Amino acid sequence: MSDRPWPVLPLLSLKSNRLKTELLTCLRDELPEENIDLVENFSSQELANADVAIADNPDVSMLTHLPRLRWLQSMWAGVENLVELARNNNLQLVRLVDPQLALNMSETTLAWTLFLHLRMTEYAELQRDKRWQQLGHTTADNRRVSLLGLGQLGTACAQRLADHGFSVSAWSSGHKTLPGVTCCSGPKALADMLSKTDILIVLLPLTKKTNNLIDKQALSLLPATASLINFARGPIVNTNALLDALDHNQLNHAVLDVFDQEPLPASSPLWQHNKVTVLPHIAAPTSPRTAAKIAALNIRNYRTKGEIPEPVDLDKGF
Ligand code: NAP
Repeated sequence: MSDRPWPVLPLLSLKSNRLKTELLTCLRDELPEENIDLVENFSSQELANADVAIADNPDVSMLTHLPRLRWLQSMWAGVENLVELARNNNLQLVRLVDPQLALNMSETTLAWTLFLHLRMTEYAELQRDKRWQQLGHTTADNRRVSLLGLGQLGTACAQRLADHGFSVSAWSSGHKTLPGVTCCSGPKALADMLSKTDILIVLLPLTKKTNNLIDKQALSLLPATASLINFARGPIVNTNALLDALDHNQLNHAVLDVFDQEPLPASSPLWQHNKVTVLPHIAAPTSPRTAAKIAALNIRNYRTKGEIPEPVDLDKGF
């Protein structure tokens, strides 16, 4: 049983001990009035009183001992694995909206877009073969970069890419306007955008509607010289269709940070594919210091005013 005073605020996390401890330290610094600890360190009597908890991509089974929970503050922007649980338990689910996360994502997106734009994979291959060959150069304004998703992260990325000088288009559910970015929505506009894309960047949430959105048919609309970056969630892109397109020279390269199964199994053909760059889900890591500040503000508002921040729309799934 914890010797710190009420109220108890459990942290549910599957991260390594080092990362859990780092987040715990930041949360305790920001909320000294709360009794914050890992869920496994509280007794079942203490957990029976918890009405709010902090979720750092937990296993849903960790929530079974929290009968009075009203809402869950996620430390992640993507919350697809908690939507069903929230619905079944009448829970409000609050995802992380952190400008630092958007900054992290826009930096990573710019870097990997430049990687593809400047043909770095091809130069690495030429070096391996000891071949001195200057490939053609395209200016940024002639490189058509298309984003799927224009939310917190997509907007920051679109702006950064447009500021760099790329020719940027973006697709979302509702129609948006963004300076320097050609915005569109709807299935017809998607097909049109894909056919005019050099680099496609996926920044959608994983929902019933986006699952398998980039399938064989969608990939076939891309020019054969196009490349794909998936920084959202693995199942949005059909892996078999992607491999098929790469193997048949219908796609140039794929930079993948997210996969159907994570960690990516050693048996996956993606690891050794010469047209695939594998990253271990690091495109936009949660920054514990800024995320803890945001969670603290939300939780303090709840304790003092009873306000729960705008929750995820469980019907839409994001
Ligand atoms: P967000 O603010 O909820 O934005 C989602 C965007 O996707 C919105 O523009 C939304 O359109 C659009 N959208 C959703 N469903 C759609 C559909 N069926 N058709 C067309 N557009 C659709 O989400 P975010 O904070 O930008 O995060 C996006 C995703 O990034 C997260 O869900 C997560 O999976 C992923 N992520 C990855 C990492 C990483 O390290 N790899 C880190 C953080 C997040 P409207 O604007 O019209 O609603």
